[in-house]
Amino acid sequence: MKISEIMKQIEEFAPLGLALSWDNSGLQIGDLNSEVENVYITLDVTSTAVQKALENGCQLILSHHPLIFQQLKNITNPLYLEIIKNNLSLISLHTNLDVAEKSVNHSLAQKLGLEVLGSLSSETGATNYIIVVYCPLEEAEKIMHSAWNAGAGKIGNYYNCANKQESEGYYKASENAKPYKDSGIEGHIAETCLQFCCESFHLNDVLAAIRQNHPYETPLIYHYEVANPNPAYGLGLICKYNAEINLQDLAILVKERLNCPQVKLWTASFDLHKNINRIAICGGSGSSLISAAQKTADVLITGDISYHGFLESKIPLIDAGHFYTEYPALQLLADFVNKLQLHPFIMPQNEHLYTQHLLII
Ligand SMILES: [Zn+2]
Repeated sequence: MKISEIMKQIEEFAPLGLALSWDNSGLQIGDLNSEVENVYITLDVTSTAVQKALENGCQLILSHHPLIFQQLKNITNPLYLEIIKNNLSLISLHTNLDVAEKSVNHSLAQKLGLEVLGSLSSETGATNYIIVVYCPLEEAEKIMHSAWNAGAGKIGNYYNCANKQESEGYYKASENAKPYKDSGIEGHIAETCLQFCCESFHLNDVLAAIRQNHPYETPLIYHYEVANPNPAYGLGLICKYNAEINLQDLAILVKERLNCPQVKLWTASFDLHKNINRIAICGGSGSSLISAAQKTADVLITGDISYHGFLESKIPLIDAGHFYTEYPALQLLADFVNKLQLHPFIMPQNEHLYTQHLLII
């Protein structure tokens, strides 16, 4: 499969337009025409990861953390050169995978045996639009399908959504105009008003598809930004454990299921033996979600909590570390690769640089 086709499939799996503004997800190194059969999956792009990719006959490295974050002025970094010299390609799926419909956090929930109730925060890198288009009654179906096929009308678990209202359009044509079906210089047409929701990363495609399929010389199409987010996307999740579990046992479960050497448990003066109901999770660095979690959850499981983050939290926090809370996402990437009928190779936990060189003493 060509890299270009993989990039197309990524737009279905974890659209790059969902990535947060500071991020650099997507194709980092590589030729869109390169053929791929074997894919090496790693959290971080290190020289060990490159070596292992080559040993396993991979043509593509698929990482969660991007290698290239800032603008480059030259390419002298030996790691970049090693990737280029060996004709490897590199794709990183970072914050787009954090907020996607099947995200890093869904993998974490699955690993912890938690049932997902919904998103913890609606934050994504995308904005939401309503598109309004007026067309003749008999053309409505065609236009609806063109908009849906281009990506409009997806809300949570539903797709091909639209709103259709009867309308009447009035016009007066100028000398050079070409009115619809020669309906005269002045008149009115039985119209339909169609409305679609659409994410920013589909907006241009949808507008182009509607224009292409619209029969008017100058169709009336407008769009405006709305605050209502798509519930399918968001940062962090609210979950529950389908049995009674107290705070202490939950911390032990996290440590065991994620295979991490230690977890930090901030009790926030809660009773360790009190049952926990609503569990907020965020793989990686979830400090920014503590206040959202406080409003709706009994505990937050994440990584990278700072000293003051612990002290200021009013709910218990379980910090299992950035690496261990994100590692389960590699299986999600492997499932995606399998679906493309390519061969995934996941870098084992104990071969990642972080677990090899960090000692807990
Ligand atoms: Zn991370």
